[in-house]
Amino acid sequence: MSTPPATETTTFADLALRPELLEALTGLGYEEPTPIQREAIPPLLAGRDLLGQAATGTGKTAAFALPILQRVPLGGGGREPLALVLVPTRELAVQVCEAVHRYGRGVGARVLPIYGGQPIRSQLRALERGVDVVVATPGRALDHIGRGTLRLDKLELVVLDEADEMLDMGFAEDIEAILHDTPEAGQTVLFSATMPPRIDRIARRHLRDPVRIQMGREAAPGNVPLVRQSAYVVARAHKPAALGRVLDVEAPTAAIVFCRTRDEVDQLTETLNGRGYRAEALHGGMNQEQRDRVMGRLRAGTAELLVATDVAARGLDVEQLTHVINYDVPSSPESYVHRIGRVGRAGREGVAITLAEPREHRMLKAIERTTKQRIAVEKVPTVADLHARQLEMTRAALHESLLEDELDRFRVVVETLADEFDVMEVALAAVKLAHEATATGGADDDEEIPQVAPPKAERGSQGGRGGSGPKRRSPAGGPAGADGADGAMTRLFVGAGRAAGVRPQDLVGAITGESSLSGRQIGAIEISDRFSLVEVPEVMAEDVIKALRGTKIRGKKATVRRERY
Ligand code: AMP
Repeated sequence: MSTPPATETTTFADLALRPELLEALTGLGYEEPTPIQREAIPPLLAGRDLLGQAATGTGKTAAFALPILQRVPLGGGGREPLALVLVPTRELAVQVCEAVHRYGRGVGARVLPIYGGQPIRSQLRALERGVDVVVATPGRALDHIGRGTLRLDKLELVVLDEADEMLDMGFAEDIEAILHDTPEAGQTVLFSATMPPRIDRIARRHLRDPVRIQMGREAAPGNVPLVRQSAYVVARAHKPAALGRVLDVEAPTAAIVFCRTRDEVDQLTETLNGRGYRAEALHGGMNQEQRDRVMGRLRAGTAELLVATDVAARGLDVEQLTHVINYDVPSSPESYVHRIGRVGRAGREGVAITLAEPREHRMLKAIERTTKQRIAVEKVPTVADLHARQLEMTRAALHESLLEDELDRFRVVVETLADEFDVMEVALAAVKLAHEATATGGADDDEEIPQVAPPKAERGSQGGRGGSGPKRRSPAGGPAGADGADGAMTRLFVGAGRAAGVRPQDLVGAITGESSLSGRQIGAIEISDRFSLVEVPEVMAEDVIKALRGTKIRGKKATVRRERY
C-alpha cells in the first residue's frame, strides 16, 4: 500500500529507545510505533526541534513523551524539571501526565500536572520535592514561573501540545512569555492539529530548523476500496455497548474488529464472548499455529468476529469478511486505508464502521481529507432501531423459508392448531418463536447509548482527578431542556473568560440580545479563566455563533465556535 514496507516493520527497538521504555511499551500491549512516532522519535532523540501536524488519536503523546523519558536519569533527576509540556486544558494536562507516568514507570520519572483550579499548595510541595517532567496549562505555569517555584534553568525540552487550541483559548502571550524564559540551547517541539499562520509565526520565532511532520501525507486516495463507511461518536465508557448495538444491527456474516493494543484485543474478545458473540483474538503475541487455528475457525464459520491489532491483520485475506469495525480510530489515514482494505475486495460489498471518541472527531476529518471519501457520522442505532432491524431479519428469514418450499412436514402442526385458533394467530405465534430463537442481543439490548457524551459527563467520570474546575451556572428556569430533553444541545466555545471579567449574565445578555434565543433556552454556562462554554439548542447553534461573532463581550471581540472535542 502507500507506506513503504521498510518503515512498516520499524519496531520500538529499532528506534533505539532505552530498555525500561521498551518494557513499558510491551507491558501496555503496543505492538509497533504509529507513523507519527516512527517519524518524530528519531529526530527528537537526536536533539532536533520539531513541528508536527497531528490530531489526537495519532499517538502524538508518546511521540514526544518517549524522547523526554529517554533523558531522565534512572530513578529521577535533580530538583528542576528537564521537560515542560504545555497543554490547553486541565483534562489534557491530567491525561498527558498519566501517559508520561505510564511510559516512564520503569525509568522512575517524576511527572507533575499543573493547572488552574487546583490548590497551589500541593503543587508547590511537589515542585519542592523535585520533578522531571511538568505538564501544565500556560496560565498556571506562568504563575509558578513568576513566583520562582517553577525554575526553567535546567529545561532541555519544551513541548507545545495542541498549540492551535492554546492560541484559541487566548494563551498566546503566556506561551511567548514562557518560551522567552526557557534556555536558548533547549529543544522545542510544537504539535498542532491545524497549522494556521499564527502557529507558523510561533514556529518561525521559536523553533530552530525544525523537522516537519505532517500526518497522512502519504495516503494514496486511489487505493481506497469502495465500501460503505460510517462512524459513531461515543464516549469511551459506552464503546462496548455501542459495539454490541452495531453488531446486532449490522448482523455481519464475519467481521474484523480492530483495536490499538494487544491488551485491548484480549479484553474486548473476552467482553464479546461474555455477551454471547463468537469472537477470536488475533495479535502479534500469538505464534503461527495459534493464528492458523483462529483463521481456520473464522473460515469455517465457528467464529464470527475476529478482534485484531493492525500488525496481526496485515495481509489478511478472508473471503467471508463483510465488515471492518474500528473499535478505536486508527492512528493514521494509511492505517485506516489498510484496515478497510480487508473488505470490499473483488467487487464484493463491504462495510467499514468506526467508533470514535469525542476528542477523535478531528482524526476522522483528517482521514476524510486524505482518502477523499466521506465518513458519514451517524446516530448510534436506538433500541427501537435494533428491534425494527431484528424484526426485519426475522421477516427476511421467513421469506426465504417460504421460497425454499420444504414446509410440508409442518402442515400437520398448523392444521391441528387451526381447529382451535385462527390461522393468523398460529402464524403470529410461529413468528414469535422464530424471532426469539434467532434475534441476537446482548446485555444492553434495552439501553439507549448516548451519541456523544456531554463533555460535562466526561469530566464527571474523571471525577476526583481534576480539581475544582470552572464555575458552572444552572440554566435559567431550572434544568428543563438543558440536557436536550426537548432537543439536542450543543456547546459553544467563547474565547473570553473570567480573566476578561466575563460573568454568566454577560453571555446570557449577549446571546439573548443578539439572537432570537431566550434565556430559558440557554443551557449550562461554564466560565474558566480564559474561555467560556455555553450550551445552546443544536438547531440554533449557527444563528447564535453568527450573532455572537458580530458583537462584543465585555467590550471585546471574542472567538466563537462550536466546542471541539
Ligand atoms: P494520542 O494521540 O497520543 O492521544 O494517543 C491515542 C491513543 O493511542 C492512546 O490511547 C494511546 O495509549 C494509544 N497509543 C499510542 N501509541 C500507540 C502505539 N504505538 N500502539 C498502540 N497504541 C498506541
